[in-house]
Amino acid sequence: MSKIINIFKGSIDGVSSTISIFRDSIKFTFGDEVYVFDLEARPIFMYFNDMLYERGLSGEIIEKKWISLNPPKRFLRRVIDKGEKRDILKYTFNRVGEILDILGVKGLYGLEDRLNIDRIWELESEEERFRRIYRPISILPPDQYLSLVFQPLEGCPYNKCSFCTFYRDRDFRYKTADEFREHVKEVIEFLGKSILIRRRIFLADANALFADTEQLLEYIKIIREYIDRGSIEGFYSFSDYFTVYKTVYELKTLRSEGYKRVYIGLESGSDDVLKILSKPGPAERSLELVKRLKEAGITVGIIILIGAGGREYYDEHVMKTIKILNAMPLDKRDIIYYSKLKIHSDSEYYKISREYGLTELDDEEMNMQIEDIRRGLKHIEKPIQAIYDIDETIY
Ligand code: SF4
Repeated sequence: MSKIINIFKGSIDGVSSTISIFRDSIKFTFGDEVYVFDLEARPIFMYFNDMLYERGLSGEIIEKKWISLNPPKRFLRRVIDKGEKRDILKYTFNRVGEILDILGVKGLYGLEDRLNIDRIWELESEEERFRRIYRPISILPPDQYLSLVFQPLEGCPYNKCSFCTFYRDRDFRYKTADEFREHVKEVIEFLGKSILIRRRIFLADANALFADTEQLLEYIKIIREYIDRGSIEGFYSFSDYFTVYKTVYELKTLRSEGYKRVYIGLESGSDDVLKILSKPGPAERSLELVKRLKEAGITVGIIILIGAGGREYYDEHVMKTIKILNAMPLDKRDIIYYSKLKIHSDSEYYKISREYGLTELDDEEMNMQIEDIRRGLKHIEKPIQAIYDIDETIY
């Protein structure tokens, strides 16, 4: 959220209430309830009845609640029932309408005239429009949920990791310059004023760096035709480490065009574990890419798959992952993400793990594995470390 530009305060039946107006959003509070809207009257964050609801551009809503802080435990659910979604939106609109009414605030981007059932229908039809503009945004790094996503490339050029089904529904392809320009225009039109809240640009899908540097620069140039340089905080994307080769010179060029961070699914430092994951190794190859990115001034997000290889490969996974992470020139601007393996019985990983006779880690063991890796890290400036729960992805 940006700097506050205006604030209204008051109280409703003894309960304090505020409306805070930011350059890119409006926040309403009522006691401990919180409602945040973008400037197109789309609710993006709602907290009431001890529940937190996050709503994406796609119209998806995730419901969350902290069950315990120690050990950290969260309840998480995707609200898929249409009726329930409507109830959440109706409750939000009623409450925000009340706050506007009692504090006597008018003219907030026409919000007071849009908090009605028609707006709920509009939001529902936006979901259809979203699906026409985007292929599903299957996954994003947790610090990119509020980014502006463009899809210059669709799918994953590899698409064979045993644990990953994110892009199995689509063939890998590049958009032509003309197609991409249309895509950018459609996205920007869809966002309207709400674009102001999304200052980072994420280039999807699985591996934007797979594109030739020249082509990537062309995509960036097209984006800049429609969004001024000053409104963009930086460009971000995933990359794998086994199909992408870029020189430091190329990466420096991307850096000078605003590329800020690349997220790499390393998963494990162990080649044996990578084999079970059907991910090409050797893991050492990731070192080269990370070193070149860092030399070019691009930060990295390294994703480690917790639980990979089960109990049987626990020590191997921990030791080799620590070794490779310590060999990477990481510092406090980089992130290490710990993503807990979710095994679906129809996945390739499930079949392979049966062949290897692997035993799944339970949640406590996964937390232990995270701690074991954390303890082994020796970087002088510790990178940020965080959990990456793929079920939380929302756009
Ligand atoms: S984990 Fe990454 S590289 Fe592997 S299939 Fe999924 S998107 Fe592609």
